[in-house]
Amino acid sequence: MNIPKIKGFLPVSMLDWPGQVSSVVFLGGCSFRCPACHNHGLVLSPENISDYPLDRIMGFLRERSGWIDGVTVTGGEPTCHDGTPALISKFKELGLKVKLDTNGSNPTMLKKLINDSLIDAVSMDIKAPLEPGLYSRLAGVPVNLSNIEKSVKILKKSHLNVFFRTTVIPGLIGESELDAIRTQLGDVTRYSIQRFRNSDTLDPEFRQIPDLDLASFDALKLKFEKRRLEECGVCLN
Ligand code: SF4
Repeated sequence: MNIPKIKGFLPVSMLDWPGQVSSVVFLGGCSFRCPACHNHGLVLSPENISDYPLDRIMGFLRERSGWIDGVTVTGGEPTCHDGTPALISKFKELGLKVKLDTNGSNPTMLKKLINDSLIDAVSMDIKAPLEPGLYSRLAGVPVNLSNIEKSVKILKKSHLNVFFRTTVIPGLIGESELDAIRTQLGDVTRYSIQRFRNSDTLDPEFRQIPDLDLASFDALKLKFEKRRLEECGVCLN
């Protein structure tokens, strides 16, 4: 199996895996073309980005495996590559935990990675409510929603740490869409929203969308995180 080319490497990150210190490995290519994407170089023309030597990364991880908790595998979309499980196996052989970042478009690979005990955590983007028009609009390609639903089901049934997240995009994803997403997701324990930034988006038209002001974003965050904690049975009074 061909190991996918590595297009970027961040030796240490405290931000990519909540509560863990991880190295971050970036793979090129993606099944989506989200107009709000900030990684469009990786998505549209990964061949223009130099490959990062795997043996150098393995050397770094071997030396630092005592104080790094794991590796975050991100993209692009890592599940686009048949060789991603083989790449992840190499990290697992060092005794490291692995978190996968995914858009949920490949439930078959997701299931394989879980069944083969290759991943410990997953962060899945939920672009929109499960409604074909808006989802495909925000993914930039026609999306097979049943794949997204299957991925959500697989993750909810798994024993993994799962993080679902949605980007709030003024005029497209606001309070009512977030409500619909939360209702469709049901009782998940980790759901977060992130703020849209209009700089250097894949679709130049999205650079005209105003950034959401912080106060409005904080209000949404409060509402949806409060709801999340209530669903987990945490008393907030
Ligand atoms: S899923 Fe969308 S946002 Fe994520 S890398 Fe692919 S195009 Fe970019």
